[in-house]
Amino acid sequence: MCGIVGFIGREKIVYDLMMGLTALQHRGQDAAGITTFKKLFHEKKGLGLVNSVFEEKHLKRLDGDIGIGHVRYTTHGSNELKNAQPIGTNYPFGISMAHNGNITNFEEISERLYQEYHILPTTTNDLELILYSFVSELRRSKDLGKVSPEDIFNAVYATQQKVHGAYSVVAIIANHGLLAFCDPNGIRPLILGKKETAEGTVYGVASETVCFDHLDYEVVRDLEPGEMIFIDNNRNLHSRKGHSNGQRFCVFEFIYFAREDSYLHTRLVAGQRVKMGRQLAKKVVAAGLKPDIVIDVPTSGYFAASGLAEELGIPHRRGLVKSNYIGRSFISSKQSEREDIVKRKLNPISKTVEGKKVAVVDDSIVRGTTSKRIVKILRDAGAAEIYFISAAPPLLNPCIYGIDMSVTTELIAANKTTEDIRNYIGADALIYQTLQELKKQFDDMGLNTCMACLSGDYPTPNAELALRQIEEERLFVKKSE
Ligand code: SF4
Repeated sequence: MCGIVGFIGREKIVYDLMMGLTALQHRGQDAAGITTFKKLFHEKKGLGLVNSVFEEKHLKRLDGDIGIGHVRYTTHGSNELKNAQPIGTNYPFGISMAHNGNITNFEEISERLYQEYHILPTTTNDLELILYSFVSELRRSKDLGKVSPEDIFNAVYATQQKVHGAYSVVAIIANHGLLAFCDPNGIRPLILGKKETAEGTVYGVASETVCFDHLDYEVVRDLEPGEMIFIDNNRNLHSRKGHSNGQRFCVFEFIYFAREDSYLHTRLVAGQRVKMGRQLAKKVVAAGLKPDIVIDVPTSGYFAASGLAEELGIPHRRGLVKSNYIGRSFISSKQSEREDIVKRKLNPISKTVEGKKVAVVDDSIVRGTTSKRIVKILRDAGAAEIYFISAAPPLLNPCIYGIDMSVTTELIAANKTTEDIRNYIGADALIYQTLQELKKQFDDMGLNTCMACLSGDYPTPNAELALRQIEEERLFVKKSE
């Protein structure tokens, strides 16, 4: 999971890119990068948070009225500077590209690029495969001196037919304009925004609407599955449908990943989390539980907890305080690091939970280690009973589309019954959202979602192969840790 932005239309666009990336920091904390273009590409990338990578001296030299940016959360490829984005090439044009997602036919594309074009990727980042697939198609254009939006869209279309998986992409095509496109299922978000200025219309594309809020841009719309957009250097906006298999938007963007003040496909993320909480109330009542208070696991459990409390008619209190200066445990890739982070980042407010029957709401349960730790923290703080509530249904399958929620052997719900999980985490009761309720929530609003990690129904071809590769890669990383 990563965050991307792209802007075109006013001088020193780097300041909009910086603000946009800062708003997307929750989508990736491993690395950050910006590329702008003015006569030449200007680039700065580094490992770590946006504010630590970019200093004023870098912003000064990142010149131009067009640029793209990326925050990285490592899935495919190691967390090294060479894998940070954007990534560029010089032929047939200068092109710089960044993406959010994960390719599932990595080896097939690598092999084809080598066999057909003798192209060898220089990194283990799957973006390179999208970039070179696109470039190889663009080279087929009749007149490389006068590439039109139609030529660019044809190259994207052919790329979408070959590259499987989840990908939202932004790119600068030197001296031509800003390109953005989605995978055929529109699994990852990408939103178009604009702002009217004295210099004319400035356009932007971003992973979430919060970027536009902070910059005072107007949100135009979400890109459709497969849709491509090209804004030329004269700021004319071109768009085309692209190759599409129908929408399968990642439901976890709503459950966990996106910021709560973002709108995805016109729905407020916070509002959808409240709904999930309300739905859970029925299950709490059916289980005969009568909690005194509801608390949330900060911060992604907050809105589901408030929905649950509202529906049950009991108070929602802050019972755990999170230190904001330690990374999210889900984002950290090593088990030892994750456990250490949980210990340090959550502190109970004992007065709130002491002697109470506490319903504690988290967005999901992945490996169970975080939940176990939370239950212990609350127990030590004096809670009388602890009911653990998960806003997501049991996670049964790995994600192959860019969320590193681990392999099947590490997913607790894939290996234990609900009762065994309750026992393992030490809670007095454990309640999960049901898949049916969650599906209905999004069906009712007319949004087709991917729920493969919950249901096993992967929307892209050859998912078994991708799953096998992820398992092998994880095994390799584990051995080398
Ligand atoms: S498998 Fe799960 S996390 Fe991955 S894209 Fe689908 S819904 Fe999202």
